[in-house]
Amino acid sequence: MDTETLYNFTYTLVKSFEEAKDRNELIESFSKAFRIFFNIEELKIYMMDEYSYLLKDFTKPWENLSNNPESTEIKQQFDNFLIKKSNFEINNNILYFPICQKNKTLGIVKLKSCEKINPKSNFFKILPLTIAQISMLTTTLKNKEAIKISSKFHQTVRNIAKITETQYELDYILPIMGEMIDQFISEHLIYIFIKNKNKKEYKLIWPKNCSDNRIYEYLEEITPKSPTIIKQDGKMGIFPLIVDSKAYGAIVAYNHFDKITKKEIEYLEEIKQQAQITLTRAKSYIEVLEYATIDALTGYNNRHQFEKRLKETTASAKRQNQPLCCIMSDIDFFKKVNDTYGHAVGDCVLKNVAKTIKKELREEDIASRYGGEEFIFLLPHTKLDEAKVVAERLRAQVEKKKINIEEFNIDGIKEISVTISIGVSEYNKNDKEAQSLYLKADEALYKAKEGGRNRVVIYE
Ligand code: GH3
Ligand code: MG
Ligand code: MG
Repeated sequence: MDTETLYNFTYTLVKSFEEAKDRNELIESFSKAFRIFFNIEELKIYMMDEYSYLLKDFTKPWENLSNNPESTEIKQQFDNFLIKKSNFEINNNILYFPICQKNKTLGIVKLKSCEKINPKSNFFKILPLTIAQISMLTTTLKNKEAIKISSKFHQTVRNIAKITETQYELDYILPIMGEMIDQFISEHLIYIFIKNKNKKEYKLIWPKNCSDNRIYEYLEEITPKSPTIIKQDGKMGIFPLIVDSKAYGAIVAYNHFDKITKKEIEYLEEIKQQAQITLTRAKSYIEVLEYATIDALTGYNNRHQFEKRLKETTASAKRQNQPLCCIMSDIDFFKKVNDTYGHAVGDCVLKNVAKTIKKELREEDIASRYGGEEFIFLLPHTKLDEAKVVAERLRAQVEKKKINIEEFNIDGIKEISVTISIGVSEYNKNDKEAQSLYLKADEALYKAKEGGRNRVVIYE
């Protein structure tokens, strides 16, 4: 064999790894290298799963091999490599060779050519080198995936820990937790159940439906001392949530195809620990914050306090016969920020938008977080045309603001920006209800959204 062919083959094989983004692409690029020697019809790699000890398609590690003659043949060939430690096996136009590392057989390559394979081909001279390279590349990819999962896991735990920085209402926290866990453990169905205090039965909180009624029977087994409960031949894991030494609820993970792995159980147990801490904290916050006036994330007034200030300001505007305006803002496409960069970045954006706006306001203006990503501002002693100028300035400043998100380590993205839509209204002292001031602003805000967002609309 000439050195150029050998060089070409080795180069293509190693280069393929650099370019491959996932397992499918890796095999695709391996095929490119093998085409130097064979007229390939199909290339497949099967690896031994270290948890189930079953042979699995490298590109579909969550699926078991089906019971057809083709799979039986692959399993048999693999067993042969395990015992005989032979280098390769040819069956007409199919070539099998093992993937080995440190004398351990990890998997098998099946190469189907369009022609009969010649055992005298030059390829077999470099087979040991090929085996070493392929096993190195596949295991490196697996390690890279594991590192990515581990970093995603730590991010999930951190996000669950941080929820209470912005929200302490359980109705809001539990679905967010569900979403976070679901994004991390994407190969399983994730459910969150909470025990109904009065009826003492479990209620599904996240997602909306659960088709498997057996889960409810299993949930009844939970006691305040329960460890993780494994059901359905290892395919379902029930992770009891114990809050204040009481069975509070459970996170359930279910995989249709396969057993939940030891590693996944470890991950979920740690996530559950964090979820318990967050729930305990949220519960005590609710008690403490019953009398709170300030929103923790933004430092603005909370909604409850806003209602109080609204009554005071409208009454005083009426008494002094002074103008009063209301500005209502809502971040555009905020859900997309959460979905793209995660909830923690969403919180960071909220905080920054609040800060940016606050800088533009006067001392006597009253800033409140009305809900989620909606802010509301009361501007005493301000006429509508002045409020319009202020609103336009708020909109422009938010649009201009570059929010630094480097600390979240998201694909090297350093900063993002968002826009807001705004509705403005002026107080009319003939209005019977103070609320009509912000209902009008809300109506104008709705029009700003309809009109294309990132704009100010005045209620007239
Ligand atoms: P638009 O207003 O432009 O119509 O689109 P949007 O995507 O902003 O609309 P929507 O009101 O449907 O979404 C608001 C999202 O804000 C949904 C909710 O998950 C998220 N959200 C609410 N409160 C918080 C919070 O405290 N932190 C984070 N990160 N997200 C929040
Ligand atoms: Mg919005
Ligand atoms: Mg909104």
